[in-house]
Amino acid sequence: MVKRIGVLTSGGDAPGMNAAIRAVTRSAIARGIEVVGIYDGFKGMYEGKMELLSTKSVSDVMIRGGTIIGTARLPEFKDESVRKVAIENLKKFEVEAVVVIGGDGSYRGAMALTNMGINCIGLPGTIDNDIVSTEYTIGFDTALNTVIQAIDKLRDTSSSHHRCSVVEVMGNRCGDLALYSGLSCGAEIIITPETGYDEVEVLNKLRYFEEVKHKNHAIVVISEKITDVEMLAQKISNATKFSGRATVLGHVQRGGSPTAFDRVLATRMGDKAVELLANNIGGQCVGMINNKIVSIDINEALAMPKASRKHLSELHERLV
Ligand code: ADP
Repeated sequence: MVKRIGVLTSGGDAPGMNAAIRAVTRSAIARGIEVVGIYDGFKGMYEGKMELLSTKSVSDVMIRGGTIIGTARLPEFKDESVRKVAIENLKKFEVEAVVVIGGDGSYRGAMALTNMGINCIGLPGTIDNDIVSTEYTIGFDTALNTVIQAIDKLRDTSSSHHRCSVVEVMGNRCGDLALYSGLSCGAEIIITPETGYDEVEVLNKLRYFEEVKHKNHAIVVISEKITDVEMLAQKISNATKFSGRATVLGHVQRGGSPTAFDRVLATRMGDKAVELLANNIGGQCVGMINNKIVSIDINEALAMPKASRKHLSELHERLV
């Protein structure tokens, strides 16, 4: 059996990554496997920045957002020569296999290493919920709750001022944060990469809400990278009786103590990753489907089509 494994966090950070690191560490130690923390993702692997973790090194980290071992991006990791140096370093530290916590880019790195003889398992750590091989990624639920709290507060002020708040949320071209937060907050309009964006339709809908439904305020939740929300707010002010105000929530969505859901998800997934590596399995990623923790081939996961959210968009339309 494998004697020593590594764990790293890569790409964008997400609340719950620490809970996953803790689970990997303690689950491995419980099976008699040593764990090395690799700092700053694949960058630390390339630079040889790693050290042995103990049960104690992961005490009290469950409640903390971010990642205690740091994260980074190293585009050069796509080069085989760079990965060769990283593998030399793993060998120096006697690391035989690695748990990679991150998004789909990190999964690609994990697969590339597996193909070079280092078994890797991917765990979905991202607030964007943009990994299609799992229903939920680690960090999504926490970010969602952060967004909901912010929108609830905006609602208080927008309802007092006959405003239309345009709230831009993250998602990296996945509309889940916008869709789920919009549903949770009773937003009047939800715009995501999946729904598409039609400015005239948005303005017409707002006029309808005002004139026919007599709404005195409105919330528009929109995914990032769709349009300039300041401009949209200005157009709303010009074309409707609402006073349009834009709020870009930004990086606040990445922070905070993970929710119970994310802690449990990260704990279950971390344990599964160790179980797979202990069985000499690599090149797979862990997901949750129908509340069961499952694993599938990384290449298969990366090729999977995204599940449709049309039923949720339609539900929103019916209730607004
Ligand atoms: P995320 O994992 O959140 O999607 P990135 O796409 O930035 O974030 O990927 C994180 C890191 O994974 C990259 O900086 C790079 O080191 C590594 N990576 C991404 N794509 C590949 C690839 N095709 N081959 C090897 N490594 C990759």
